[in-house]
Amino acid sequence: MKFTRRNFLRTTAVAGVGAAASSLLAKPTGSPSGSHPVTDEVLERAAAQPVLQLKSLNDPVIIESIELLRKGKDHFVRVRSQDGAEGVSVDDGRMEIFHPILNQLVVPYFIGKDARDMEANLFGVYRYQSNYKMQGLAFWCPVALVEFAILDLLGRMSNQSLGEMLGGIVRTTVPFYVASGRRDTTPDQEIDYLKGLVEKTGAKAIKYRVGGRMSRNQDALPGRTDKLIPLSRKAFGDKMVIHADANSSYDPPEAIRVGRMLEDIKAIHYEEPCPFDNFDATKKVADALSIPVALGEQESSPWRFQWCIRNRVADVVQPDLYYYGGLIRSRRVARMAEPAGLATTVHLSGGFGFVYALHFASCTPKIGPWQEYKKGVETYGQWFNPPLRIVDGTITVPKGPGLGLADPKEILKGATPVQETGTSPAPDTSG
Ligand SMILES: [Mg+2]
Repeated sequence: MKFTRRNFLRTTAVAGVGAAASSLLAKPTGSPSGSHPVTDEVLERAAAQPVLQLKSLNDPVIIESIELLRKGKDHFVRVRSQDGAEGVSVDDGRMEIFHPILNQLVVPYFIGKDARDMEANLFGVYRYQSNYKMQGLAFWCPVALVEFAILDLLGRMSNQSLGEMLGGIVRTTVPFYVASGRRDTTPDQEIDYLKGLVEKTGAKAIKYRVGGRMSRNQDALPGRTDKLIPLSRKAFGDKMVIHADANSSYDPPEAIRVGRMLEDIKAIHYEEPCPFDNFDATKKVADALSIPVALGEQESSPWRFQWCIRNRVADVVQPDLYYYGGLIRSRRVARMAEPAGLATTVHLSGGFGFVYALHFASCTPKIGPWQEYKKGVETYGQWFNPPLRIVDGTITVPKGPGLGLADPKEILKGATPVQETGTSPAPDTSG
């Protein structure tokens, strides 16, 4: 058996000296702390713990209406209770495509339900009209948007922020990395682009893309990855914290080769090295490398997250708060990751998503040392009071009840409903 950090950790843990031995393991600066072997029983117990902690809501909060609204390029969901309470959520840019799923398959389930039963309702909507057959981003994004709005409503009614409702506040500022999100650049252009992002935000951590994206080992440009990795360390110096995202580009041998280059420059995060649904390949890479491997942004199944955590397919789990169906489901993933010693660093695709990521980080004890940020403080940050600010490479978590929007009515002024021509639920085709 090849000697690796993971094998060493497992062997020593079984021998009963894991805690002491694991503390001796050299890890890159800022990397997640060591992991622990964990059983399914422990993970199931962690996931089954109630997430929602509602104060002072003793009477049912019956949902009367849920509307999808559009204003400019933004989509919103507004939920109203029978008693006139309101909650609002903000899309991250996918409702232009998914609105029929939201309006026809998600909204009808929630009408007449008690908002306080949100945890159970998430399973209910999954079963409703055989929605489970559509499990994936197209189904869970609409559910997330409705969940965010209902949580905002509950938070405003109970005078609790999202973080207070979802586990309690453990931090009020969140260190972030700026993510480039580009592959159309030469290595030199990429460094220039990243420097611009760092200059603008004061970020102390960066993420760039390697490989060609789902590319079967092809690079985005010939030689781009091999040049970019060493160049990034040279250009930014020893203190910059470096993340890399392969977006499912490699088979294990190539992923390990690139991973070794990242280890050489002391990068701390290697995301989706292999096709995201190939757990076997990803585990081979994570077992071979000391750099933490991250996985999970495409995942939609709690059982598969559980399997990945128990089997240490990756070192960092990354549910996307929209793609995975909202804050509650993602908090359950973090609850499973914690006893295994794994960090949860949520994925976000941009837009308004960073705001929900801030709330998630505010109540999740074991997040990764850096959370993702692309852009948005300068626009969406103004919707809060006080406005969200970047201070010394960190962003402030919104204050106030629920999501924390300063004036939802003003933000929604001029928004128009997005309605379908046929709003009756799709036929149940189970069988
Ligand atoms: Mg990614």
